[in-house]
Amino acid sequence: MRDIATKSNTKEIIERHGFTFKKSFGQNFLTDTNILNKIVNAADLTDEVGVIEIGPGIGALTEFIARKAKKVVAYEIDPRLIPILAETLAPYDNVKVIHQDILKADVASMIEEEFKDVKEIAVVANLPYYITTPIIMGLFESEVPLDSITVMVQKEVADRMQVGPGTKDYGALSLAVQYYAEPYIVANVPPNCFIPRPAVGSAVIRLTRYQEKPVKVNDASFMFKIIRASFNQRRKTLQNGLYNSSELRIPKEKTVAALEEMGLTPTNRGETLALEEFAQLSHTLGRYKHCCPKSSLPEYISEKGIS
Ligand code: SAM
Repeated sequence: MRDIATKSNTKEIIERHGFTFKKSFGQNFLTDTNILNKIVNAADLTDEVGVIEIGPGIGALTEFIARKAKKVVAYEIDPRLIPILAETLAPYDNVKVIHQDILKADVASMIEEEFKDVKEIAVVANLPYYITTPIIMGLFESEVPLDSITVMVQKEVADRMQVGPGTKDYGALSLAVQYYAEPYIVANVPPNCFIPRPAVGSAVIRLTRYQEKPVKVNDASFMFKIIRASFNQRRKTLQNGLYNSSELRIPKEKTVAALEEMGLTPTNRGETLALEEFAQLSHTLGRYKHCCPKSSLPEYISEKGIS
């Protein structure tokens, strides 16, 4: 069967439709069938899996998913791509394209409607890089019943999702992702696998969602406020980061006491703490969270734009 994704087929399709790439939509189409195979293999697709795709483009990845999964529901924001997809994906009767911005979509209701008879639900996508974090964190935080997310992202972002404490890339995104899922970098992908070539390197990462969270916390949004405060001022100590946070508003002496109770010194930095230690800190500082004027800042990490 003819693949959409070869360089010559991609060029022929976009020229015939007079399609021009829109940078603001993060449009870099995959034109390497080896990489497409790696993505669908890493996603472990079978005819019992329902897949959500974000940004099908002209359908390069969609058809590889459709050949293996039970059903694909793909969200595409660009209206110019909808008639193209109707043509390129016509051979597949297990694909549904929804013309909508994924950040405004009611994914939970779609799942109830479209994936009644699947055993697993996976997200598989070559993501628009400008909204990688809000997409992934939005999916995790909304607690829609996903089993895994296998996506192409900017290489640097994949590294940040995967690393542990004490490394330069470790930060709020690493902790946010690792609270929900186990990350695994499947492959690094050079710019020449796309049309047009992106300015940055890319990587495929699989996030396997934990059935049970790796740490227990009473209030996850409070823990993420602490995490954000700890990484807000990278060069500052943990104590100052926590004390200066407008989101937390915990008196200095309480912050110092909580750190001491955990055996941390005032000079410790946020980047040395593992997820378990943030959970413990959130438990200890939780006693004081109602002692001060309530913050008016948003609860959700995706709204705060962890990057
Ligand atoms: N999946 C295709 C491929 O691999 O060749 C295209 C991937 S391209 C990197 C990203 C796609 O996401 C584009 O088709 C773009 O129009 C779409 N997109 C951008 N922002 C979006 C949004 N907010 N919601 C849904 N789709 C979006």
